Amino acid sequence: MTLAESVFEFEHSYARDVPGLSVAWAAAPVPAPELLVLNGELAAELGLDATALRAPAGVSLLVGHGLPDGVTPVAQAYAGHQFGMYVPRLGDGRALLLGEVVDGTGRRHDVHLKGSGRTPFARGADGKAAVGPMLREYLMGEAMHALGIPTSRGLSVVATGEQVYRERPLPGAVLCRIAASHLRVGTFQYAAASGDPDVLRALADYAIARHHPQAADAENPYLELYRRVVGAQAELVARWMLVGFVHGVMNTDNMTISGETIDYGPCAFMDAFNSATVFSSIDHNGRYAYGNQPAIAQWNLARLGETLLPLIDDNTDVAVERATAVLSEFADAYERHWAEGMAAKLGLLTPDRDLVTDLLALMSTQHVDFTGFFRALSAGTARSLFTEPGPFDAWATHRDALLPADRTGVAAAMDRVNPLYIPRNHRVEEALTAATAGDMAPFHRLVDVVTRPYEERPGLEEYAGAAPAGCAPHVTYCGT
Ligand code: AMP
Ligand code: MG
Repeated sequence: MTLAESVFEFEHSYARDVPGLSVAWAAAPVPAPELLVLNGELAAELGLDATALRAPAGVSLLVGHGLPDGVTPVAQAYAGHQFGMYVPRLGDGRALLLGEVVDGTGRRHDVHLKGSGRTPFARGADGKAAVGPMLREYLMGEAMHALGIPTSRGLSVVATGEQVYRERPLPGAVLCRIAASHLRVGTFQYAAASGDPDVLRALADYAIARHHPQAADAENPYLELYRRVVGAQAELVARWMLVGFVHGVMNTDNMTISGETIDYGPCAFMDAFNSATVFSSIDHNGRYAYGNQPAIAQWNLARLGETLLPLIDDNTDVAVERATAVLSEFADAYERHWAEGMAAKLGLLTPDRDLVTDLLALMSTQHVDFTGFFRALSAGTARSLFTEPGPFDAWATHRDALLPADRTGVAAAMDRVNPLYIPRNHRVEEALTAATAGDMAPFHRLVDVVTRPYEERPGLEEYAGAAPAGCAPHVTYCGT
């Protein structure tokens, strides 16, 4: 057995079972690969040999070279609505699916490269990625995972030794990421637009088998698949909202069927609470602002529903009626997850809508740090975060009346759901700037901080708060 075969035992169920939605393709040469970060914990979970992956032949594998005989990576086809505009052919322009690995518990994961060179879907772009954005994706995925939020995760980032040209030359990199799959709403849009009902059906059957197997036993499996995706996304977006996460590019090609967060581009965690928070430099209208995310998720799911109509019923009117009924479950499901999550954040046993609405209005007008507030509330210091404490006092009296009679354990329970450490924008920028200049130490330290988000650790005080006042508002440029 070669090293490649012993490290990854690849399977290729997607290329085999969903014909017509991928193109066999090879990774571009990498002149001088250098491993910047390897996720030892994730490697262990997947049953991969981390020591072998750190060796030169392993690093080669992580940029798509020296693969076992017979292993052919593929670029996946998909379409998508980008900022509301339909693009019929997107696909992996700079990414490749190397294959799938099945872990010790029987779960299947995609092993996927980003920044691995131009593919037939590159549309004139260079197929490359820079060190900063690939490390950002790695860091954000680890932070989200540590917060218990479903997400793709970085296995490694390897610098290529090559320059990539954005506004200026930057060091290039390849991210190797692991995801439950890369099936997107956009994959269904592409399959539906192909006009071949067999392709769409093969994709839907594959999605059911891989992600929502219980749907197979339902009276209408495709409608049930839709219901389960709607439910998974309602929960996912509620969980983003509960930690102040702004995805930044919720195009339909960046929304998964599995319910995992994927494609971290110009994303960030909000500091001061403000529903209109946007980080992406290209999101001029605030389409993907913090407060719009639930509505956008529902809009994207409507696009998914449209693709499934011919599978749901031969009679289009019936199919539309049934799909619409399922989509209408989104709002309730989202509301339930959000309300229950907010109750837990506030130390309450049951949700109280008015209490939450009042709090968010207060935080918004007084520019209170979203993450910092909940830890201060459990510590009894929240009042000091308000420049004008009067309205907060009234709110706190209202909350007091809703707390359980026995308050032992309330603060500790709150601290188990409210993170102390998130990837603060100024810390992320600092770490990525240093990494781009060749110093990985701040990045490794930040990964360590955000992967234990709940537990207060001495010496990390400076990671717990927003940037000092006076710093420019954070924007993530889209040169990803
Ligand atoms: P993203 O914004 O990363 O979700 O990408 C949107 C689409 O643009 C996908 O089809 C990507 O494959 C493609 N894309 C983004 N950057 C590049 C690049 N540098 N080269 C080729 N394709 C790219
Ligand atoms: Mg994408």
